[in-house]
Amino acid sequence: MSRHSVATTTLSVPEREALADDITLHTCLRNCMGMAGIAAGCCTLGTRDYIIGPIPDTEALLARLTKLWGREVEHDEIFIGHKEGSALFPDKPEWQREVCYPALRVKTEDASLPCIFLSDENLCSIHEIRSVTCSRYSCDHLKDLLVAI
Ligand code: SF4
Repeated sequence: MSRHSVATTTLSVPEREALADDITLHTCLRNCMGMAGIAAGCCTLGTRDYIIGPIPDTEALLARLTKLWGREVEHDEIFIGHKEGSALFPDKPEWQREVCYPALRVKTEDASLPCIFLSDENLCSIHEIRSVTCSRYSCDHLKDLLVAI
């Protein structure tokens, strides 16, 4: 331990939570899945066989979006169902599995296929009200980092 380091066991719960948030933000923006320079992998399909679903709290998320945006938000504006998704990505096996739906819609016009809520800065634009699928998810690399604090 260097002279200026602090054992995390001496931190209060709020301090640990703040540290976990800092580690998460740094990891997601600069060291996603332990790969330097990669960002927001769990919010982007890229060339992988990956789907952002299932989303169990669709109605609650729509209600929160309606409140945030001050207008009615339609289900199909945010979510994609099995019929559409399986046809959209016929080469991705995960998109053929009904249990993966409803899934979050992705920007198909962007080659990296990001979630519609991912900003150009690789931040979640609805972080405070995101679905439980997103708020409960940590990749294995992040889990390993957070279990140490
Ligand atoms: S809603 Fe936010 S956290 Fe969830 S996949 Fe989209 S950008 Fe990522």
